[in-house]
Amino acid sequence: MTLHAPYDPDNIFAKILRGEMPCVKVFEDDLALAFMDVFPQVEGHTLVIPKQETARNLLDMPTDKLGALITRVQSVAQAVEKALQPDGIVVTQFNGAAAGQTVFHLHFHILPRREGERVGAHASGGMADLAELETIAAKIRAEM
Ligand code: AMP
Repeated sequence: MTLHAPYDPDNIFAKILRGEMPCVKVFEDDLALAFMDVFPQVEGHTLVIPKQETARNLLDMPTDKLGALITRVQSVAQAVEKALQPDGIVVTQFNGAAAGQTVFHLHFHILPRREGERVGAHASGGMADLAELETIAAKIRAEM
């Protein structure tokens, strides 16, 4: 996968957006969807994706749509903070396979961090228990 390539409408996040794959939802409006990462690097690992754009990465995203998306990322990060009360929050985003991107629909990672807590490997950890993810998602939803 290169940094610039045609958008694949069968990527996993596109399937989630079309309702063809399940997700543990945290937030949704007309512009963005937030859901729990099923291979979380830390407890509370949340993803935020644009709904209407077929952008593979940040470089592809129409500039005039980026501001609205970032406000959703901030809102979800604020809800994650209130719900889980971490010591810090990493917001990150990968562009291209060489940078570590594995799903080619633009997304932002929100990782609540606790002092001394180890962060799991990116996109290569074990699958989370879905009931546990739903419990965490409910706490975050309650703060949205
Ligand atoms: P990236 O490697 O930056 O493209 O991030 C993709 C993220 O999507 C990884 O953190 C994966 O754990 C996560 N992921 C992959 N499949 C799913 C899925 N079906 N539902 C939720 N998260 C997923």
